[in-house]
Order: sequence, then C-alpha cells, then structure tokens
Amino acid sequence: MRDQKNIVYGPELEKLIDVSLGELLLLTLKAYEDNVLQVDGETGEELTARLLLKRAIKLAKWFKSVGVGVGDSVSINSENRLEFCVVPCAAFLIGATFAPLNPDYTPRELKHVLGLSKPKIIFCSQRTIDKMSGILHEHPYVTNLVLFGKEKSTHANVLMFQTLLEGCEAKEVDEEFEATPVDPKEAVATILCSSGTTGLPKGVMCTHENMTTYVDVVRTTFTDIIYNEDPSDAIIGLTPFFHSFGFMLLFLNTLRGKKMVVISKFKPKLFLDVLVKYKINCTAPSIPVPAEAPASQAVRPVVHQGDAQRRRPLGKDLEKNLKEKFNVKHVSQAYGMTETTLGVLVTPYGSGKAGSSGRIVPGMMAKIVDEDGKALGPYEEGELCFKGPLIMKGYVGDDESTRNTIDSEGWLHTGDVGYYDDEEYFFVVDRIKELIKYKAFQVAPAELEALLQTHPAVQDAAVIGLPNEEAGELPLAFVVKKTGKNVTEKEIEKFVADNVSPQKQLRGGVIFLKEIPKNPTGKILRRRVERKKQAGHDEL
Ligand code: AMP
Repeated sequence: MRDQKNIVYGPELEKLIDVSLGELLLLTLKAYEDNVLQVDGETGEELTARLLLKRAIKLAKWFKSVGVGVGDSVSINSENRLEFCVVPCAAFLIGATFAPLNPDYTPRELKHVLGLSKPKIIFCSQRTIDKMSGILHEHPYVTNLVLFGKEKSTHANVLMFQTLLEGCEAKEVDEEFEATPVDPKEAVATILCSSGTTGLPKGVMCTHENMTTYVDVVRTTFTDIIYNEDPSDAIIGLTPFFHSFGFMLLFLNTLRGKKMVVISKFKPKLFLDVLVKYKINCTAPSIPVPAEAPASQAVRPVVHQGDAQRRRPLGKDLEKNLKEKFNVKHVSQAYGMTETTLGVLVTPYGSGKAGSSGRIVPGMMAKIVDEDGKALGPYEEGELCFKGPLIMKGYVGDDESTRNTIDSEGWLHTGDVGYYDDEEYFFVVDRIKELIKYKAFQVAPAELEALLQTHPAVQDAAVIGLPNEEAGELPLAFVVKKTGKNVTEKEIEKFVADNVSPQKQLRGGVIFLKEIPKNPTGKILRRRVERKKQAGHDEL
C-alpha cells in the first residue's frame, strides 16, 4: 500500500524496539555503566548512567509508595539541570506520565496548564518554588512539591529531592527492580504543551510507542551525527527540557550513552567555553528563520494566501551564513511539531538542499492538501499533513480538538503551508494556523486576546506575529478601546507583561484600531488585520 498518488512515503522503518520506555531504560542504562551521560556546564558535576539508574529506581519506588502509578502524571517546573532527567526516567519505570512545564509561566498561566495534566507530584527549583507553593491550594490533585538542589525550602510541606534519594548512591543497582508493564501503543509517556492550530495551550499526549519509534528513526537516520563511533562525542543541552525539542534531545542522548553538557541559561561566554572544552562537533539549536522569497519560481499556491506577505519560509541565506561563519561541514534542517513527537522532515546528512526542511523520516507519510483536502503533486503549495507512528495520541481531555487535528484516516493537519519538489524534498513557506513562534516558544494569539479583553479599557483585541529577523516573530496586538475610556500603548504592554511569561510579551507593540475585522460568525480575519498593519491605515 505504498502506491497512493501524491502521498510521499518515508523509507521502511525497521522497528527494533517493542518494549516500554521503562524496560528500554533499564536495559540501556545498565549497559552503559560508567559512561557520563550529563555534565553541568557551569559546575562540571557529572551524572553517569549507573548513578542515573540508581536515582531513577529509588525515585520510582518513592512514587509507588505515595500512590503514583500508571495513568498518573508527575511534573517538573524548572530550568535545565542535572536532576531533571531522573524524574522522567523514574516516571517511565513505573508507567506514569511525565508532564513538564515552562518555569517562566506566571500563576495565571500555570492555572490553565496544570489543569490539563493534573500532576500528583511537582518538582521545582528555587526559581519556581515560591510561585508554585502560592497556588497549590487551587490544585487539590497535587499531593507533593519536591525541591531540587541543596538549599532548603522555607515552605512547610516541601520535600527535598536529595532527601528522597538519600543512600541510593552507596548501594549496588537493584537488579530485582522491574519496570511496570504497560501497553506501549496506549500508555501515555509525556504530556507537553502546544496550542496546536488554534485556541489555548493544550496537552499533547505522546505514547511510549511514539517515543521508541523515534529512537528507531534516529538509529537508522542520524547515524553519522548521533550514533557515530566517537566515544567522546558530546552534545549541548541548552534548549529548555520542558519543550518537546529539548526534552527529546535529552531523552535520545540518554539512550545513546554519550555526554550531554547541560546549560540552564544561554550565556555567550559559557556557551563558547563549553564548545571548546567538550569539543562539541554537533549542536542542535532552534533558530528562528527570517523571511525571503520562495525557493522555486515554479511553485503554484493552492491554499489561499491572500495578499499578505509570506511569513515563514526557511532561510537559505541563514544556512549559507552558518556554514561560512562557523566553518561547519553540514547544516541539517528539520521540521516537526510537539504533535509529531519530534522532527518528521529532516535533511539527509551531507545531501541537503538550500532552504529545504528535508525529506520525510522512515515509517512516516506526508502529503500536501488543498482547501478541499485533495492531495497535491510536486511544486504545488498547500497544507502539510503527516501520518504514521510518530503522530501523537491526541490532546488530553479534548476530543474535539483532537478530531479537528487528526482526521478519520489518521492524517495530522499541521496548519503549516509548504510544497515538495520532484526529489521529495519539502519546503515550509508559511503558516495558516493561529500560532506565533517567538524564538522556539509558542504564543497562542487566543490566549493574549482573552487576556486583553479583561482590561477595563479594552473593547476588543486581535494578536498577530510581526516578522522579526532575530526572533522569528514578535507578538503584536491590535486593540479597540471602549467608548469613553483611555489607555496608552505602554499601559497595554505592561498589563500583558504583568500577566504572562516573558516569551509572550507584546514585543511587537500595540496598535489601536476602530474595529477588528471579523467574519459573520465573529472569527477574527487575521490576514485582513495584518494588511491593516502593512497599509498603516485605519489606525486611531
Ligand atoms: P512546536 O510544537 O512548539 O515545536 O511548534 C511547531 C511549529 O513550529 C510548526 O507547526 C511550525 O509552524 C513551526 N516549525 C517547526 N519547524 C519548522 C521549520 N523547519 N520551518 C518553519 N516552521 C517550522
């Protein structure tokens, strides 16, 4: 069944792993023994495979003792640090779900996202413990807060991570310990946040099978980069571990048995020192992409673009600059979503094409569809859709959004626009969904619009992404004032900044309008709003 017209098939995937993540972790961590899996970029503290295994087993037993099991979730609200990895490993060992959260979330944002995964235990750092303690009474499903680090908490009832693990290092690995059996196809391994194609952030459920499939994809596809023979080959763990990209890098690195240098915050000198000290020869940054003309003149747009400026084609110049400035041999591009576990389009090693996000990975299928859902041929632009074992199980507690995203035949509709060429290389050129990407972070316009409407002087609001060379896009708000009320751009910006995490601030500014263009059912006509910005008229 690999012959359907206008469907692009990835190579056959040799499925080597058919066990749960817990079983896989036990096998691999035992095999790697004294290999250093993580190093703290600042302190130089190391975590070996054996130590990680001892700690994960000890924590898994504690989870069981406090009633956490299959179907329950545990969360981390912290910056990247060495303790981070112990928690998902312990959760997978007992078949529980891991649901990390952005440490920058404000109490207001936490209220919504905690309600999605309803974690029983939340692990915090000094940076987040006060915030979390302050809102705990609103979340009765949370039974314990645990604090990373050595510094004691000033809050009563907060447990110390190091106390929970006490004594495990001196003992041998518990060889009797067995991973809790789960059905890899059904058991939810992670719940990560994404707003999908519309609305507020949702909880993306990925199964054990989604993740083990990615391990197989990596073993067969990125051999040169990740599974090479060099034992000293290290990578950097800088992308936040709460984001699907950062988390999957952490997880995949644990299974390859080599070093990841963990960095909690980007500091130029530290970053460069780490590159030199650990002889890093491969990094995986998340780079925002500036606008440029489409890669091929032969492209025929099929999804309606309006006359708005194209916003997110991949930068061929960026690729060229990277190669020249840093003297690197290969720049690999990838395309993926939280909902596809990780990248589903990846540039083959050594054979990229300027501006392309790559080819479909093994085991997956891709198609480009027009507005009527018809699958299109090469060089025809439309919505990118994917199908196969890397597609999420669904959005937690939100069947309607799941049905709107994954159709009855199993195709995930991405809300991104692209095309493929006659060699099946894909090019991503635009986004039709309501999503702003500020650096690697998702900003849901609906969330900021709902917040703006709670301001006493605001009648109506629409938020769009303003293209930006450095960050990809900046959130920009169009605001209609209530009759007789006065408010300034600065006051609106401050109001938003006081309520949301730094990534969602209105860095693109505020523009006052007489009205927000909407269709008869009240849906904001975003392209028309954008054109108002470009034309610069109708502003008050
Ligand atoms: P996230 O779920 O946070 O990883 O965000 C996924 C979204 O990021 C996609 O739906 C795209 O809109 C955007 N994205 C990811 N990879 C690329 C790429 N290679 N080129 C352009 N946009 C991308």
